[in-house]
Amino acid sequence: MTTDYYSTLGISKNATTAEIKKAYHKQVKENHPDKNKGDVKSEEKFKKINEAYQTLKDDNKKSAYDRMGHGNYRQQESHGGQSQHGGFHQAGGGQGFEDVFSDIFSQFGFGGNSRNQGSENGDILRRVNISLADAYSGAEIDLNLPTHKKCTGCGGTKDAKRKPPTTCSACGGKGFTVAGNGFFNVKQPCRTCRGQGRTVENPCRKCNATGYESSTSKVSVSIPKGVETGTRLSLSEHGEIGDNGPGTLYLEIQVEPNNIFDRRGDDLFITKKINFIDAILGGYINITHLDGKTFNVKIPERCQVGTKLRIKGKGMPTGRGDNYGNLWMITSIELPSKLSKKQTKILKEFKDAS
Ligand SMILES: [Zn+2]
Ligand SMILES: [Zn+2]
Repeated sequence: MTTDYYSTLGISKNATTAEIKKAYHKQVKENHPDKNKGDVKSEEKFKKINEAYQTLKDDNKKSAYDRMGHGNYRQQESHGGQSQHGGFHQAGGGQGFEDVFSDIFSQFGFGGNSRNQGSENGDILRRVNISLADAYSGAEIDLNLPTHKKCTGCGGTKDAKRKPPTTCSACGGKGFTVAGNGFFNVKQPCRTCRGQGRTVENPCRKCNATGYESSTSKVSVSIPKGVETGTRLSLSEHGEIGDNGPGTLYLEIQVEPNNIFDRRGDDLFITKKINFIDAILGGYINITHLDGKTFNVKIPERCQVGTKLRIKGKGMPTGRGDNYGNLWMITSIELPSKLSKKQTKILKEFKDAS
């Protein structure tokens, strides 16, 4: 049984953004938990529908999903957060239940979560360059990233005396203030509590009342094989300190061009000079791949300049299972710069014979 995101929403892989959205709305209406109270199966289905939509509605996530395949993509997602080295997962991974619901609520006209308006989540975006070889094999790279631990001064409570936060007196805990003349009202996030609805009595100086002590430290990040320029990895807790603790660091991959292999999607291209005798009579040529491993490629007889030879499975990892694209070898001919007397004689004979 296929349970990929497309079949969950009942759409084809070529569905447009509008079609994806439409299918999602239809499925949500049919499977909304309010309609099927207590039905565990429909609740499950509802979760799956949302999971599918959260991925497919986002171009970046969708292309990662298409590239990696259902199984791999979900595995990456679920590995995020628990991994010892920074817990990367494909961008948009840890889409919390809250996000899913705020999305649905806004669709049903419930209005969003006004408490968090104006608050900052601490998410940041960083670009990182990697070599084509690392994109081919996957890699562990060390990066200096923001790292946060609970403040030793206040134990993470933000209050120097470790007192629990109290309701913000400026906004009465609502997180926003309303200014106006009763006719035109403007709702603004509360400045005193920054939209949190709560304040601490004795702000901790050690952590600036954030509850965290931040530094920069070396973090080992796993780069999955097959990544492309534009792929975003998310490292939870390595963003900046937001109003609700450390945010997520989105790491955008930039794959550097290689001067031997040219990447086009899942395929690689290489131009190889072959010996003119091998080009005529056929032979073998040795190629050293991006991972340093070498292999032989058969040259067919009477191989012309510019012939494109396809070497199956030697392209880039596609991220779909253990599949690889193709390597295309484009031939050019290498002519000898020196000829012995004997060689010249033979070639003259060859000329006379033709
Ligand atoms: Zn503190
Ligand atoms: Zn307030």
